[in-house]
Amino acid sequence: MITIELRHRGQKIHGGMVRRAAYRRRRRSANLRYRAPRHDNRPRPDGWLPPSVRHRVDSTMSVVMRLCRYAPVCEIHVEQVAFDTASFAGAIPSGALESTTSTRTKSEIREFLLAKWKGSCAYCDATGVPLDIEHVRPRSRGGSNRVSNLVLACVPCNQAKGTAPIEEFLADQPARLERVIAQLRRPLQDVAAMNATRLQLVRELEGQDMPVHAWSGGRTRWNRFALGLPKSHTIDALATGVMDHERGDALVRMPAQILVVASTGRGSYARTTPDRFGFPRLQRPRGKVHHGYSTGDLVAAVVPQGKWAGGWVGRIAVRASGQHRITTLTSRFDVSHRNLRLLQRADGYAYGFAAEIRLSERQGPAYSGHTLKGGDPGNVWNPDA
Ligand SMILES: [Zn+2]
Repeated sequence: MITIELRHRGQKIHGGMVRRAAYRRRRRSANLRYRAPRHDNRPRPDGWLPPSVRHRVDSTMSVVMRLCRYAPVCEIHVEQVAFDTASFAGAIPSGALESTTSTRTKSEIREFLLAKWKGSCAYCDATGVPLDIEHVRPRSRGGSNRVSNLVLACVPCNQAKGTAPIEEFLADQPARLERVIAQLRRPLQDVAAMNATRLQLVRELEGQDMPVHAWSGGRTRWNRFALGLPKSHTIDALATGVMDHERGDALVRMPAQILVVASTGRGSYARTTPDRFGFPRLQRPRGKVHHGYSTGDLVAAVVPQGKWAGGWVGRIAVRASGQHRITTLTSRFDVSHRNLRLLQRADGYAYGFAAEIRLSERQGPAYSGHTLKGGDPGNVWNPDA
């Protein structure tokens, strides 16, 4: 059994795109007095995603293809959407939300509301506390069960509001009242747009010539809740799809470790390093290999003498001079290429292990998402550290 946690670098890619746009804007205004932008004759092709999002799809596909190469994979189960909007698009049966037992519809709605209200109480912005599904117009006053009448509220707010109308409850906070009502009216599609990346991923997985089953995140949450499991990436992955709780489906085995795969990139194509105004500051050599090594290689170094005498393992950043910079878990220093031995070629990813939470740490079925973190791997090489 293997668990892989893939860490994306979308934020870094986004930063790079923003920087590039700024340089180009400066160059345009420096060389042109004014010219109206030409008409938009370069429409984006179908299925276009922003580079930072494209990277998520591509790096996930890369890991999937590798797994398929090394293991006899015959089925893929993937959490396609955070919530299944079809399951609560119509009228929700009366009493479905009031019942104390959890249902799948309730899980889907909850997942949707968590996205819509950004996981915080609509009335006081509290986060990290148990949140209840709250009827804005109370049921006792003819309020409906539709999602356009539902918010998430913390227990104190929920109790304080009681059956009062929202206009009365928020009478002294007109700004918040306006905000909550505006957010309530936002259409479903708008919030569902965040599912676009996963839809594209599923589309590409389906090109892989094997059955792909797509599920909603609400169903994952429902499975996890029904089994009384804490939240972790691994448990979410194992709880994806159909589980037959009544017949006793359960998670019996968990890997002890997570393989953390952090996307590091393969260096820049640009051969000049600009300063913050976009002017060239450094000229980089054309070749990426120096004295047999390239940046990102995992090496073992034996330093014969000096402050750093001894054996080290780490990733290197190469220099044309042959004095490569090595980054180990605890230190960073320069070492001659003569004292290095290659352990692994850079492939755009850094690898490390993190401990997985154990199933014995399971807690009772708490419906308000208490999060147990999977632990932060200290041994992942970070090129920016
Ligand atoms: Zn509150």
